[in-house]
Amino acid sequence: MSAVWIPETFRDRPYAAAHFARIVQWAQTHHPFYRRFHTDITRPLPVITRAMVQEHNDLLLNGHPGLGHTSGSTSMPVRVSWQPGRGTLEAEDTARLIRWYGGPMVHMKIVALATHVANDHTLEVDSPLDVQIAFIKDQHARRGAVSLISYPTNLERLCRHLLERGETLPFIRRITAMSEAYDEHMDDLLRQAFPNAVPIVTYSSVELGMIALRCPHNPDNYHIMAHKLGVEILDAAGNACPPGAPGQVVVTDYFNQHSTLIRYALGDLAENAVCDCGRIGLPAITRIAGKMRGLLRRADGSQMLFTSLSSSFRDSPEIRQFQVLQEQIHRFTIRAVPRGTPDLAPFEARIRARFIAEFGPETQLAFNYMDSIPRSPGGKYFAAICAIPGVTL
Ligand SMILES: [Zn+2]
Repeated sequence: MSAVWIPETFRDRPYAAAHFARIVQWAQTHHPFYRRFHTDITRPLPVITRAMVQEHNDLLLNGHPGLGHTSGSTSMPVRVSWQPGRGTLEAEDTARLIRWYGGPMVHMKIVALATHVANDHTLEVDSPLDVQIAFIKDQHARRGAVSLISYPTNLERLCRHLLERGETLPFIRRITAMSEAYDEHMDDLLRQAFPNAVPIVTYSSVELGMIALRCPHNPDNYHIMAHKLGVEILDAAGNACPPGAPGQVVVTDYFNQHSTLIRYALGDLAENAVCDCGRIGLPAITRIAGKMRGLLRRADGSQMLFTSLSSSFRDSPEIRQFQVLQEQIHRFTIRAVPRGTPDLAPFEARIRARFIAEFGPETQLAFNYMDSIPRSPGGKYFAAICAIPGVTL
């Protein structure tokens, strides 16, 4: 037995416990960031936040040159460096993913060229949507490409643009959504715009590479790349969440001694899951959500992911943008931007019924219609904000 404190999630998993202890011990001896923040490795180790990494980024790099990573998914860049050979693990995981989904296909990428090598089958993600569609058609015509790789936020824009043009791209057979949190409503949207494409979803970050891959047999679940990463789902008090309860995603990389990340909170939310596919022997998580989608609070104190309510808004033709503020357990303000000048009574009735079903008969809703919903000071757009005094998420 080692003297290193082991998180609850890993205690009954010998491989995870051994690798966690090994990297913690190594970091305490060799890494200045952890000598500073992990003062006693025999006691519960603090979670490392993105803000801490940003504030002490040079200390975390420990003399290694930071790769100029800025992801398409975050406005808060973190500079990281991987030890030699670490990239090989990513190549292996990519191969694993392709194997799970039936083998390689000729592909194209619409990605941030700041972090991806530009070549004859890549396009910058900031390109106008008409340029993206022309690129996809050209790649198919010239190279026979049938597989498209991009970010969920870009795929969403692309789908909506195609549907507004009354167009579909049936020749695409596979769509890989990478890097950002993928909302379940994307499955429907992709099916409409790309009717013959199988969506592949990876949960990854520039700091950690592939974190989890969507199960090809049960698309609700994502199998964790547990051979290289330890993933914990923690509640606000730092305890491991049981399956079904959303919590912070906290990740430890076993194989990076450059910008080592131990118990690193990415800022995303997810739930532990047990995948019943019976074919992939890796632990699973589900309902991964970026922080911007938010959490609401039930009367019993439990948290719920806003994604389970958001379809009621998204599927409402009367509005084009929305935001939910929870001011008290049973009091909400719904901000919405009407689409034209619709009759809003049916919208309000549907939303009221949905909230009462979820939060109880005493639920009160106020509707506040505006021309546009402001972004937060940090530039992010929050679909749901829990603003109950004294409650922090
Ligand atoms: Zn599975």
